[in-house]
Amino acid sequence: MEKILEIENLRVSYHTYAGEVQAVRGVSFDVNRGKTLAIVGESGCGKSVTSKTIMGLIPTPPGEIKEGSKILFDGKNILEQSEKEWCDYRGSQCSMIFQDALTSLNPTMNIGKQIVENIRNHNKIDKAEARKRAMTMLRLAGIPDEEMCMKKYPHELSGGMRQRVMIAIALSGNPKVLIADEPTTALDVTIQAQIIELMKSIQEQFGTTIILITHDLGVVADIADRIVVMYSGKVVEEGKSREIFFGHKHPYTWSLLKAAPSLELGKEEKLVSIEGTPPDLIDPPVGCPFAARCKYCMKACLEAMPPQFEFEEEHKVACWLYHPESGYANIRFEEETEDE
Ligand code: SF4
Repeated sequence: MEKILEIENLRVSYHTYAGEVQAVRGVSFDVNRGKTLAIVGESGCGKSVTSKTIMGLIPTPPGEIKEGSKILFDGKNILEQSEKEWCDYRGSQCSMIFQDALTSLNPTMNIGKQIVENIRNHNKIDKAEARKRAMTMLRLAGIPDEEMCMKKYPHELSGGMRQRVMIAIALSGNPKVLIADEPTTALDVTIQAQIIELMKSIQEQFGTTIILITHDLGVVADIADRIVVMYSGKVVEEGKSREIFFGHKHPYTWSLLKAAPSLELGKEEKLVSIEGTPPDLIDPPVGCPFAARCKYCMKACLEAMPPQFEFEEEHKVACWLYHPESGYANIRFEEETEDE
């Protein structure tokens, strides 16, 4: 599979009055061209910081991208780009849809002006041509009356419509990669489904690569080809969707899946809540970051960071349970819980 993005040993910190917050701690994964990769994990796991780094949106200071970090976009390390190269890259190579469209759109400009401005930033065309293209983009994003929408201000649109406008703006530069950071969190379930369908149809039409950032595994199941699970600034498990949903191997992934509501949940079954809190990233533990919340924690887990163990094809898990000498290689989490 051809890779469009290769993230290698990415480390990002924020310098605060309390100390250095190590938000992303040596993250590596690849994104395949024309496919959808989902990055999942609870708040503070580093998924949004990773995606903002790919977009060049980490303010330095207080942020710092550590030496040795690499993000290869079509083979070129974008972390070495000049400010001018970043401006050309954003929008035309890689674009982002943010969680809250209301705060991301400019409240003082109507929708038409915002899209036209974005199109003209990336293309040398006159206003009339940009306007035509803006209407095409709005139609493509599923806006029924694009002419009327162009005249509206963000606050005059519903949440779903605003998110469609955001998608139209993000697509107006014809980017190769679209990063969607929790694009459906603020929407009700019907609109969520429509937005996910829209993203799928965009991918089919234009071959756009999608990186979906979310904590909602229900959203991921519908659209992702591969999933990266992050915890405490690290990748703890990654693999194809099927492997993560039906062959997950990390205790954190299991807890995340068990914590998600599902129609298949039996009457007697309870949702799992992950007790405890993630570690303080100003002073992260030397061993496994999930150790304090993991019922399978062993001595080795407290002493050293687990390496990544590889299973079929692209399935990788960072957990000491899969060390050949742990004796837990065939662990079944469900059974262990029922036995308690
Ligand atoms: Fe649990 Fe140890 Fe695996 Fe971490 S390395 S998830 S503490 S078993």
